[in-house]
Amino acid sequence: MSLYRTWRPRTFADLVGQDAVVRTLSSAIEGGKLAHAYLFSGPRGSGKTSAAKILARCINCVAGPTPLPDNTCENCRAILAAPRLTSSKSMQRATVESTRFERSARR
Ligand SMILES: [Zn+2]
Repeated sequence: MSLYRTWRPRTFADLVGQDAVVRTLSSAIEGGKLAHAYLFSGPRGSGKTSAAKILARCINCVAGPTPLPDNTCENCRAILAAPRLTSSKSMQRATVESTRFERSARR
């Protein structure tokens, strides 16, 4: 198993080297100013999928939207246990689309 799957960060605090991303997403969540979609780009291993999965939990957590998801509620556990897809692009797209769905369902 790949290291990034075994040791994938679970919180923004664990996301190393992406301070600007963490600051931007955290303040958007805290200020209730989340965009309708986010595009994560960068070289392989830079934390795109990790950031997307953390953001998905921040938005979908029963305690949320919060920059500190509990990672224990049903929604968080479902995102943490998301099946490994054959393509990381599919994973990112699925995460973004499920986030969009959840947000539109709340309106
Ligand atoms: Zn949760």
